[in-house]
Amino acid sequence: MKIALLSRNTKLYSTKRLVDTARSRGHEVHVLDVLRCYMGITSHNPEIHYKGKIMSGFDAVIPRIGASVTFYGTAVLRQFEMMGVYPLNESVAISRARDKLRACQLLARKGIGLPITGFANKPDDIEDLIKMVGGAPLVIKILSGTQGVGVVLAETQQAAESVIESFLDLKVSVLVQEYIREAKGADIRCFVVGEKVVAAMKRQGKEGEFRSNLHQGGTATLVTATREERAAAVRAANTMGLNVCGVDILRSNRGPLVIEVNSSPGLEGIETATGKDVAGTIIEFLEKNARVGNTRTKGGR
Ligand code: ADP
Repeated sequence: MKIALLSRNTKLYSTKRLVDTARSRGHEVHVLDVLRCYMGITSHNPEIHYKGKIMSGFDAVIPRIGASVTFYGTAVLRQFEMMGVYPLNESVAISRARDKLRACQLLARKGIGLPITGFANKPDDIEDLIKMVGGAPLVIKILSGTQGVGVVLAETQQAAESVIESFLDLKVSVLVQEYIREAKGADIRCFVVGEKVVAAMKRQGKEGEFRSNLHQGGTATLVTATREERAAAVRAANTMGLNVCGVDILRSNRGPLVIEVNSSPGLEGIETATGKDVAGTIIEFLEKNARVGNTRTKGGR
C-alpha cells in the first residue's frame, strides 16, 4: 500500500511507530505536514499539492491531526477522501469527536452512559444550571481544552458560580458536569481499533489531583476492561464513526460513563502500559479495509 500519514512532527512517538511498522510490513509511507498541503478544488478533479508536487496514487491516509489544526487538517483529509483515498478515520467523524458538546449530544442520543452534563452560553440563571447537574462539587470544562487543560473541579456552590461566571465573561463556552467522586482520580482508556478494544489502561491522577491525564502527572497501568466497559467504548466509537480512537471511561456507581472520545489517541502511553503492538493492529486494520473508494460516512451527521 501507499500510505499518507498526516502529522506535523515526524519525531513524535506515535508517528514514528506507525511509519516504522507500516514500512516493516512492506508499505510505502509518506509523512505530510498537514499545514503545508495545499488543495486545488475544481469540479471532478480534487488535487492535493505538497512542496510543488501533486500527491497521487495513495491507497490510505492516516490522520494524526492535533486539536489546534482541526479545521485545516480535516479539510485536507476531506480532500483525500474526495480523491477516493481510504481514511483510517473520516474527517466528519474527527469533527464530531473534537467538538465536546456535539460528541456529548450524539452519545446521549444513543443512550451511552455519560456524567450529567449541562452547557451554557449566556445563562441568566447560573444557579439553575448548577442545580441541573446536581449541585457542587462539579466539574467545569472549557470546550476547546485538551490533555486536562481547562478542566476545573469546583468544590462549593460559590466556587462553581464564580468560575462559570468568569469563563462566560471571557466569552469562553463551558460544559458543566456532575463530579464522579467514586472514580477516585482515575479513568480507563480503552483503545478501539475496528469495533474491538485492543488495549486498555488505567490512568491514575497524582496525589490530590482529580484529573488522570498523563500530561498532568498521572500514571498508567495495564487494566482489564470489563465487558460492559468494552461494549460502551465500542458503541461510543461507532456513534462517532471512528475506526480508531481512545475512549475515556469513568468507573461510577451506575456503571461506565464515557467522558471523551479521542480521535488521535497517542500510542506511547498505551503501548508502554500494556506491552501491546497497537501500531501493528492499526496497520493490519488498514491492510484489511483500505480499498480505493471505500470511504463512507458512518453514523449520522
Ligand atoms: P481532556 O479532554 O482535557 O482530557 P477530560 O474531560 O478527559 O478532558 O477530563 C480530564 C480528566 O479529568 C479525566 O481524564 C478525568 O480523570 C477527570 N474528569 C473529567 N471529568 C470528570 C468528571 N465528570 N468527574 C470526575 N472526574 C472527571
